[in-house]
Order: sequence, then C-alpha cells, then structure tokens
Amino acid sequence: MIRPTTARIDLNALQSNYREIVSFLERERPDRPPRLIAVVKANAYGHGAARVARALEEAGADILACADIEEGHALRTAGVGAEILVFGALSVSDLDGLFDLRLVPTISTPGAARAVQAAAVKYKQRLRYHLKIDTGMNRLGFRFDNLRRTLPELLASDTLTLDAVYTHFSTADLPDAPLFDTQRVRFDRALKDIEALGARPHYRHAANSAATLRDTRVWFDRVRPGLMLYGIVPPPLASTLDLKPVMTLVSRVVAVKGLRVGDATGYGARYVAERPTTIAIVPAGYADGLDLRLAGRGHVLIRGKRAPIVGSVTMDMLMADVTGTEVSPGDEVVILGEQGDERIDAREMAASIGTIPWEVVCRVGSRIERVYR
Ligand SMILES: *Cc1c(COP(=O)(O)O)cnc(C)c1O
Repeated sequence: MIRPTTARIDLNALQSNYREIVSFLERERPDRPPRLIAVVKANAYGHGAARVARALEEAGADILACADIEEGHALRTAGVGAEILVFGALSVSDLDGLFDLRLVPTISTPGAARAVQAAAVKYKQRLRYHLKIDTGMNRLGFRFDNLRRTLPELLASDTLTLDAVYTHFSTADLPDAPLFDTQRVRFDRALKDIEALGARPHYRHAANSAATLRDTRVWFDRVRPGLMLYGIVPPPLASTLDLKPVMTLVSRVVAVKGLRVGDATGYGARYVAERPTTIAIVPAGYADGLDLRLAGRGHVLIRGKRAPIVGSVTMDMLMADVTGTEVSPGDEVVILGEQGDERIDAREMAASIGTIPWEVVCRVGSRIERVYR
C-alpha cells in the first residue's frame, strides 16, 4: 500500500552532489583540499537517514555527522560502517551507545566532559572526541576566550583523546554580517591557545554549506555540508556548483470541483471565488508537514502549470486553483520539484512562507513514504 503523496529521493543526485562538492574543493584548493563530514542529522534533513547515509558512504564519505546518540543508533542499525560524529551535547544522555555503537562524541560543555570521562572509565575504553569551541554562536561549546582556564583538566584526561577541534558559524548565510569574520579570527586564536596548552588535535573543521561556499579560509581540514548535499544552496547565496535537488514531493489530484462566484473553500471560508473557479483537491496537508501559510502564498504544479494554493491547508488536504486548465482526478501534482517547464524548489517554498529551506525539507512528515531511486 502506498499513499498518493510520496517523497521521491534520488540517491544518484545525492551522490552526484557529494562528488560535485569534492571536486569543487579539489579545484579551489588543489594542494590540500579539505575532506567532508557529511551531515545526516534529522533523518538526513527529512530524506531518510538510513538510505542517504549508505549512499554517501558508497560515494566515498568516511565521516558522517548526526545530532544525538539515538540518531547514531539508527545509522548503525542501517549498517553504516563509517565513522559517526555526534554534534549534540551529551551531558544528560545515556552514554552507553557511544561505546556500543562506536560513536565519536562532541565535548562542548564541562558537564559533558565529566559525563563522557566517567563513562570511558566505567567502560575501561579510550574514547576519541571532537572539542567544540564557541566563537560567537553562544549555544554549545567552550568559550573561545577562556580556554586556558576551562580546558586543562579535559586535555589531561588519559581516557579521552582529542581527535579534532571545531566551531560553528551563526551568520555564514548573512553576507553582510561582520560576526562571520570575527568568529573566524576567534577560532584561529582558540586553536593557538589549544596548541599552547600542549594539545595536538589531528584536524580542525568549521564550515557548514554556506561557509564552504563563501570563504576558503574557513575550510581547515574538513568541511561539514548538510543542505548542499541535498541539492539546495543556502539562501541568499548563489553558487555555480552543479547541485541537484534530491527530494521531489509529488501527489495526485483526488477530486476536481467548480466554485460559483461567492462560494468559499476551506476552513474559515477565507477564500471566496470572485469568478467561476475550478479547484483541485490534493491529499497532502499539514499532517504531512506542509505549512498552513502556503494557503494564499504557495503553488503546486498540475499539468505543467502553477496552481495557486487557495483556501486553507487542512490536516490531510489542500486546494489548488486550476481554473482554465483541463484537470482530472489522478493527474500528477508536484509540490516540490519539476513538471514540464515549471519548477518549485525548497528555496521558493521557504521564501513564500517566510521560513528557511532547511525547515521545509526537515518537516516533510513521517506519513509520507520516501521512495528511493
Ligand atoms: C547542521 C550542521 C551543519 C550543516 O549545516 P548546513 O547549513 O546544512 O550545511 C554543520 N555543522 C553543524 C555543527 C551543524 O549542526
């Protein structure tokens, strides 16, 4: 059984994006191209972590990153053999998974340092970790400006081995924000302090997709793209990379109905037909992750044309204005993707409702089956 509304996931496009990013890095810095940490958190941005992770491994990814130990568990269960870095703070997590599943934790707070240290002692195992430095995001990480006070105890541990040091930018996708450069300079300073404390991390990383596109100075030894892997360039940036959208969201018209002048459609009766109007009913709604704000703002593609979403996005259905087009039940509806010469991508959908493309793809609901190609 499969519902008419499905997310088609093109694993060839994913692998092609991976290779395109690798060759971009090699082109721009041939002497010492950074390698990748492929980000597959949040169920691979809604694309399905198991299949996406395995396809990335096949394309050459040797380190994947996820948000927490539970996501790491899902990846190992799917048969992923690559190294798995866990981004999240682990101070209140059940840490057994780090050892049972061979995950590499991020240590980003003194509390996490103590918890991971205690767990390593209990397991009588040495554990490699990545150290996160807060250079201005003010979320997780050791503050860049007092590492000489906060790090010595952690660095002295003989059960924990410092593998890498990293930071995360808060304004990589805001070209005019000066904080990006400030964070870069602070990270350089933190790396020097860490070295002065006698630590020798094997490598360093900092760049998400936007930072990777923007500035080779923040590439360090590895870059950490997420969004780009899925074929989406972070707005407002433009890129000459040949990235292909991995997810296509499709459905089928289940009914077609005529509205007379004055008829309303949808909850709240906010949309009232001002002329004889034909609407198509599409079986996808907010329970599938489509945003309520698409009503009156977004479009779907039917018969190669843009059909405005009208009325309201309801739990299981939406209505699209197809006046003037011959539409029948069973016709294909494209919610995200191409049809004929038209195309609606995650950037456009996000812009139309005032959100970001990361959210658009992550929110595609669990009721929607992912069909892999
Ligand atoms: C999500 C995430 C990334 C990837 O970000 P994109 O903008 O999707 O490329 C990189 N690093 C960290 C720490 C993240 O949490």
